[in-house]
Amino acid sequence: MFFSRFLALPLAALSIAAAPASQPAPVDSAAAARVRGHIEFLANDLLEGRGTGTRGHEIAASYVASQFRSLGLQPAGENGSWYQWVPLRRATLVPGKSSIAMTVGGKAVATSEYDLGLRPSLTEKSRAIDAGMVFVGYGLADAAMKLDDYAGLDVRGKIVVALRGTPAGLPTEIAAHLGTTKDEVAAAHGAVGFLELGNGRAPPRPANAPPLSLYSKRPSINWVDAAGKSGSDLGSLRVSLSASTAMAERLFEGATRTLAAVRKEAATKGARPRGFALKPLLAIRSETAWEDFKSPEVIAKLPGSDPRLAAEHIVLMGHLDHIGLSTNAKPGADIINNGALDNAAGVATMIEAAHAFVASGKRPRRSVMFIANTGEELGLLGADYFASHPTVPAASIVGLVDLDMPLLLYPFTDVIAFGADRSTVARAVADAGASMGVKVSPDPMPQESIFVRSDHYRFVTRGVPAILLMTGYANGGEAQWKNFLGKIYHTPADDLGQKIDWAAAAKYGELNYRISRSLADADQRPLWYQGDYFGDRFAPTAPRATR
Ligand SMILES: [Zn+2]
Repeated sequence: MFFSRFLALPLAALSIAAAPASQPAPVDSAAAARVRGHIEFLANDLLEGRGTGTRGHEIAASYVASQFRSLGLQPAGENGSWYQWVPLRRATLVPGKSSIAMTVGGKAVATSEYDLGLRPSLTEKSRAIDAGMVFVGYGLADAAMKLDDYAGLDVRGKIVVALRGTPAGLPTEIAAHLGTTKDEVAAAHGAVGFLELGNGRAPPRPANAPPLSLYSKRPSINWVDAAGKSGSDLGSLRVSLSASTAMAERLFEGATRTLAAVRKEAATKGARPRGFALKPLLAIRSETAWEDFKSPEVIAKLPGSDPRLAAEHIVLMGHLDHIGLSTNAKPGADIINNGALDNAAGVATMIEAAHAFVASGKRPRRSVMFIANTGEELGLLGADYFASHPTVPAASIVGLVDLDMPLLLYPFTDVIAFGADRSTVARAVADAGASMGVKVSPDPMPQESIFVRSDHYRFVTRGVPAILLMTGYANGGEAQWKNFLGKIYHTPADDLGQKIDWAAAAKYGELNYRISRSLADADQRPLWYQGDYFGDRFAPTAPRATR
């Protein structure tokens, strides 16, 4: 599971004690042992947290490919191999080689790296950008939601300045989508730079704290293909900026309204502040150093049996990468982020689903692909690369289930299928669940914006009916989720020391199998429902199903 740079996620630090683990009799002890074997290997300390581009991740990839081989699946990566090597670039600002000079009405305003910051570029080693600024409200434009914060504004060649977040009242998954694509909207309007303001509520830093440079020390990472195209390409948009709380106010000096007035309006119900021109001109200079590397997607295929449907693909995927080693831990502390549940658990249960297909002795009608993604934790990068450079015709991918971070810590009796109410994938999930006594529950944590935070989202935005599947809140799940998100998520504690319920793990693998089997064998491919926002937005000409 990935943190988007645009989402301020209120992960509740709740100290709810874990529910006492019940001990149900194993449903299928052989399946439980298989899944346990996969998770114990993938979450082993020796793999050092499976960071993208590390040896640990590549060993994990080799393990997954070996499992696919032993099941008799076909390699479906590049050149007949199990792998698609994703070309990645890590971009870092060269120290001392960046500057942002500001003038207002021809007069220089002193700024430093503590006032205005910028992100390194994946496509331009040297940047020289001179531009004015325009405030664009929340920076949203979406016809279906009747939003156009750019109406009447000319932002071509300008740096747009947007409020963080989205106005209250939007459906949560749509709000999450709109909130994470503001830079694309800015680019579509011809802007050269994007600056999203903080929420203005950051607590003041202690007087003795060292000042915080806004010149990003964190590298930018994305794929850059052989043709030089990057997953970060946003047309005209060349720079992503940030501003300190104090500087954010100053950007509005001399404009028709102050930032304080804008924030006050934004805080009233239903309000959407309108944009206007700002006075400052920025002269941005930056030098970026690049480091190129590769990391594998692991891709297998079980060919379909139906002469008419076998050319179509149902995809089951889960990310194999995790966040690697912690860099700022106290001496002697555990620094290995094993990612046992995030997402060794998803990959292990995907392999178990593949096993169930093979063990059934009956090939699916459509072809089924199994993909262990890389770069998910860095921003869904492997899935995005595969989606834009698929090893099968893009149009042949007709449905997708993403397995990310199932909490296999309790005997789950429900699942959450993010995106399920948008397409007929919902029916497959409901039917498969019903056959095993598992209910499908609505999203119990909309504030987490999970719909846009995992690999399936890269296919949703390419028009593929796709869902993200996770274990639900029933039967002790809620307490487990709150404890996990508050204390364990993305820490070294997501390891094999957790009380993993291996019977639940086996059950989850079986559920994955039944869902993908149902999608692969159905007469009709998955369809978006009529009037669904994401279907209308990203697959406007595809046939529709009625609910
Ligand atoms: Zn994660």
